[in-house]
Amino acid sequence: MSGHAKETSLDAAVEDSLCLAEARCKATGERLTPARREAYAVMLEQNKPLSAYELIAVLEEKKGKKIAPLTVYRHLDFLTRVGLVHRLESTHSFVACVHPDHAHESHYLLCSECGSADEVESTALGSLLDEIADRRGFRPENAIVEIKGVCGDCASDAEE
Ligand SMILES: [Zn+2]
Ligand SMILES: [Zn+2]
Repeated sequence: MSGHAKETSLDAAVEDSLCLAEARCKATGERLTPARREAYAVMLEQNKPLSAYELIAVLEEKKGKKIAPLTVYRHLDFLTRVGLVHRLESTHSFVACVHPDHAHESHYLLCSECGSADEVESTALGSLLDEIADRRGFRPENAIVEIKGVCGDCASDAEE
């Protein structure tokens, strides 16, 4: 395998996130079981949005055996509920949260070229959306804004 140095730093980032996630689950009385932890670790390692099927495929390859899709759906339900993973409605996929240490509403810049999902945490945007909904007596259940376009890296590649 090439690029060993990069792997090590990715591993370190994954480890950091896993520690934060464990601490947060403990503080909120949620159980991050080994299976849930493994699903979350895979999502962190992939570092991009995955559909449930893509996650199943990666987990199966890692474990070298078949996994019941329902099991993985349950892990995703749990991880989404506790806020370690965010669900992207527009692409029917899931992405690991980049700041798992606290609860928050997040928004995404989704690149249609490379498939990256850049998580943006903005309290200003969150309160604006709350205000708009409130004015109309609307009760939001899911207020994740997903903006599709081309990321900075892909845009500069296209210019070259
Ligand atoms: Zn997040
Ligand atoms: Zn891109």
